[in-house]
Amino acid sequence: MRKRSICIVCKKERKGSKVEDDMYLETMRKIKGKLNVLRNNTLVVCDECLPKAEEKRRRFEGTIMTFGVLATLMFVTFIILSPSLFSLIIGIIVAVAFMLLSLLLYYPKVEKHGKER
Ligand SMILES: [Zn+2]
Repeated sequence: MRKRSICIVCKKERKGSKVEDDMYLETMRKIKGKLNVLRNNTLVVCDECLPKAEEKRRRFEGTIMTFGVLATLMFVTFIILSPSLFSLIIGIIVAVAFMLLSLLLYYPKVEKHGKER
């Protein structure tokens, strides 16, 4: 079966720059494979949508960085102010919330040299 390349922004079958594979996409593929809903499409961003996708990715990276720093600061502050089991639990909750948030906001990266032809 021929692999179709689908633009992740306009959801149309188009040629474009490949989306970089990362941990998130890998995990999604494994889950979909288990559920038998894997469509095996190549994810791309077509030239028209490229600026939009790059902007979204930039925003995602910025947000994640900010939240990461804030979460770390919060955790460190808690540990310094009251080194207890409670602080540790708060820290774990913050870490889990942070991971969930990054999954919700996730936006894939476009490969600069990965043209799909
Ligand atoms: Zn597109």
